[in-house]
Amino acid sequence: MQDRWLQGIKATNFAALVLERRGATERPLFSCDDGRHFNFAAFWDLAQRLSFSLRSAGASPGDRIAVQVAKSVEAVALFWACVRGGFVFLPLNPAYTAAEVAYFLEDAEPSVLVVAPERLNEMSALAAAAGCKSIHTLDDVGTGSLLALATEGVEDHPATWADTAAILYTSGTTGRSKGAMLSHGNLASNALALVEAWGLTPADRLIHALPVYHTHGLFTATNTLLLSGGSMLFRRRFDVDEVLTLLPQATTMMGIPTFYTRLLQHAGLTREATAHMRLFVSGSAPLLAETHRAFEARTGHAILERYGMTETSMNTSNPLDGERRAGTVGLPLPHINVRIVDCQSHAILPVETDGMIEVRGPNVSSGYWRNPQKTAEDFSADGWFITGDLGRQSADGYVTISGRAKDLIISGGFNVYPKEIELLIDAFEGVLESAVFGVPHPDFGEGVTAAVVGKPGTALDAGAIAVDLRGKLAAYKCPKRILVMAELPRNAMGKVQKAELRSAWQDLYRPV
Ligand code: AMP
Repeated sequence: MQDRWLQGIKATNFAALVLERRGATERPLFSCDDGRHFNFAAFWDLAQRLSFSLRSAGASPGDRIAVQVAKSVEAVALFWACVRGGFVFLPLNPAYTAAEVAYFLEDAEPSVLVVAPERLNEMSALAAAAGCKSIHTLDDVGTGSLLALATEGVEDHPATWADTAAILYTSGTTGRSKGAMLSHGNLASNALALVEAWGLTPADRLIHALPVYHTHGLFTATNTLLLSGGSMLFRRRFDVDEVLTLLPQATTMMGIPTFYTRLLQHAGLTREATAHMRLFVSGSAPLLAETHRAFEARTGHAILERYGMTETSMNTSNPLDGERRAGTVGLPLPHINVRIVDCQSHAILPVETDGMIEVRGPNVSSGYWRNPQKTAEDFSADGWFITGDLGRQSADGYVTISGRAKDLIISGGFNVYPKEIELLIDAFEGVLESAVFGVPHPDFGEGVTAAVVGKPGTALDAGAIAVDLRGKLAAYKCPKRILVMAELPRNAMGKVQKAELRSAWQDLYRPV
């Protein structure tokens, strides 16, 4: 049953649930790098006043509020202003250009657009063209025209669990980005599942150095700490030196793999430096098993890796108590089901067999905004969400991700799974990481190509890697070219941008 998670819960929407769970209103919530502090009462009041601002700016319940601002407590409070006012929060990456923002405005038709002050001029005409009722500003220390309107509180809109609280556009590695609609119930059920799975309590202090326009920093990190009664050391960006100084005051950190590889490169990462920490969580991109092992050897902490996505929030997690298995993303979270099926027939596959990961549960989005066709494509006939991630499950339930379906390379008519080749390359002496991708090839359709990065101070020999692979892989899987690079292209969430590699090297095999 989708609503089993609701058993024992009296609240009828997410805002009411936070009030029910949070209790002590004066407890600290945010401690910011600009010296500001917000306890829960101050934050909740800010959200209520921002809800009044949005109404004054022309928004009615159900309207979308597009927000492209720098990270701040006010940016998070704007999400809660939407939850409380019945609006739909639509966060946008501050790095998006005006042309990119134009697409989201056209697609979502928000009634209000909130932007960084320095982009007001550039965005005003766009907002007008897209039919926004108003455009307002918000900077990273809590000032701007939107705040100037936040003079009064206003009663909460009586939302239900099924109401949409946010639309998050997917990163859109292929084609145009789609807006995943997330309901009060989707977000609340996931936050509760994570509080339980990770044992979060009022004693927890989280290092929050993630962006807040993405599900990881916006929902996974803040919603869990709000519900559990804990607090956050809120940083506008990840700075490895600063994070090391925060560790003795903190109990938990949620990060992307890059946070952990950067920490490992710093001599200050020691057992003593992390002695106060209870839990390190990683997600959004694969954590190399080697990073997991190196971190444990250095600090005694086994990083807890979990797996989720914009459309579903978190699906699986390694256990808090029990084996945190390196290279896996753990077990399905409470009330969430995972199955591995054949990509074509959707037949359920035996354990330890690679296939499509599908999920079902109260966390899963009801679909894409105004896009019934994409929604239909991404759900199976019996209602499971087709993640697009390939993976397998062990007999004892641990899920391992083996790649993205869209990453699949078809070379000479054979299917090649990049992850299989990447794992072999990564195990080669001196290799830090690799990305295998396909680009047009006159004979094979696609040519398997590897981008490889060496560990600091090593000079990699592409020829030696090629020889090693030829001894281990069928010929059709062996990369036709191995490109040694200083680093792989990544987005802000640490995901390797294979689309960028494909486009940069598209002419590699073109006959001259
Ligand atoms: P996003 O919607 O931007 O959060 O991206 C979701 C995608 O990130 C998933 O579909 C996976 O491909 C990938 N991802 C998230 N967590 C992990 C993880 N722990 N290991 C490997 N891939 C992950």
